[in-house]
Amino acid sequence: MVKQLVAAQNDFFATQKTKDIGYRKQYLKKLQQEIVDQEDAICDALYADFKKPKFESLATETQLALAELKHAIKNIDTWSEPERVSGSWSNFPSKEWIQPEPYGKVLIISPWNYPFMLAISPLIGALAAGNTAILKPSEYSVHTSKIISQIIRKVFPPEYVTVIEGGVEVSTQLLAEKWEYIFFTGSTQVGKIIYKSAAEHLTPVTLELSGKNPCIVDETASIKLAAKRIAWGKFINAGQTCIAPDYILVHKNVKDALVDNLKNSLTEFYGKDMETSGDFARIATGKHFEELKGMLEGQKIIFGGKFVDADQYLAPTLVDEPELDSTIMQGEIFGPILPLISYTDESELDSYISKYPNPLAFYMFSSDKKFQKRLMSRYSFGGGTINDTVIHISNKDLPFGGVGQSGIGGYHGKHTFDLFSHHKSIVKRGTWLDVPLRYAPYSFSIILIKKIKYLF
Ligand code: NAD
Repeated sequence: MVKQLVAAQNDFFATQKTKDIGYRKQYLKKLQQEIVDQEDAICDALYADFKKPKFESLATETQLALAELKHAIKNIDTWSEPERVSGSWSNFPSKEWIQPEPYGKVLIISPWNYPFMLAISPLIGALAAGNTAILKPSEYSVHTSKIISQIIRKVFPPEYVTVIEGGVEVSTQLLAEKWEYIFFTGSTQVGKIIYKSAAEHLTPVTLELSGKNPCIVDETASIKLAAKRIAWGKFINAGQTCIAPDYILVHKNVKDALVDNLKNSLTEFYGKDMETSGDFARIATGKHFEELKGMLEGQKIIFGGKFVDADQYLAPTLVDEPELDSTIMQGEIFGPILPLISYTDESELDSYISKYPNPLAFYMFSSDKKFQKRLMSRYSFGGGTINDTVIHISNKDLPFGGVGQSGIGGYHGKHTFDLFSHHKSIVKRGTWLDVPLRYAPYSFSIILIKKIKYLF
């Protein structure tokens, strides 16, 4: 089946239909309408997968995808236009420009944590740029994967866009094919497998991966507000967010205040009996639930810690001063557990932050502008926010992605269009003049070439 679909997409791309901007726009509009029509069903599917609260489904899945669609539909004409550059004088007379063109067939592999948005958002850019696509959503978010498949089947012919559901086996089959672009969102570990497969065919990739995201709170921060914003960014989606703050580095003088305020914020958000709150999601996979429970063993839990196996519920949990060699501080937590580590002096921070490879996100709460500037310039990370968490993802003009171990490439808004386009350079020479400098014999040219300082 995979081979046939790949062949069908090759043939379809060769018809040149997707080069027509009107054609792309027409399908993006159909997709937009279908998402609007199915929005409640999508939210129901997300709830069925991991009890994702409806507000979070709207705010972080469907409405984000619709905003991307609206932006792409509005701007696709401008984005697709050739960009004139000034001609180099050595080419005179000429017109010179950059023409975006689609790569061809794109493979999009997505994870389970924001299962709708992380599948649809790259797809929008891939189609806006004129590619065909095969989408492989996660096998763990079965209900959402199913509705994505239904939507795509209703809107697109399979030779243009298809969803193939399944797990590692299906992914492996897909990766054995030749793609013109691969867009992967998931763990760093699997990202390496994707990169190796892509290398076989020299296929360009975007890898949206993971990291251990620090969040620094210094003495000058507004603690009450910091606590509220950290609690929101950490516990939305039950902490299963690639850019959630992973651990807190807090100045010892404000640690107690931060902990008290975090507790207050969490109680305000989810009530005293958090398990009954309809605003807090569950852990999406059994495997990950067990891993998270394991991380809590032997830790000093200062808030939460309750879990319910039947429901894969893990309460918002604060852990005090974990050992750096404990599992919780080894890799990405990716769940509702927030460790707090205190520091006394700025010079100590580096021993924590540099212990881990480039994080996907970086947060700091401080009103000290010089401190903000020092940290922002010192560390290499995908993206970050000062005095808030997670929200840098919401601006479509900011490219979203990692660096080093946390990923390759950035997307959202026009950045997604650019990422899925090859930028073709074209020079159109005039024929009414032909400067002889470059032609042999070179005896005269060799004198001139050194005098002409600016050949380009
Ligand atoms: P994962 O890497 O296990 O799986 C992602 C996708 O890859 C799934 O569709 C899965 O079927 C496929 N896959 C898994 N193993 C494979 C293999 N051996 N060969 C080929 N394909 C394979 O990730 P996940 O558990 O679904 O998602 C959680 C991870 O994703 C976290 O680490 C999180 O930080 C990361 N993530 C990153 C971003 C980002 O934008 N950077 C966003 C969301 C999640």
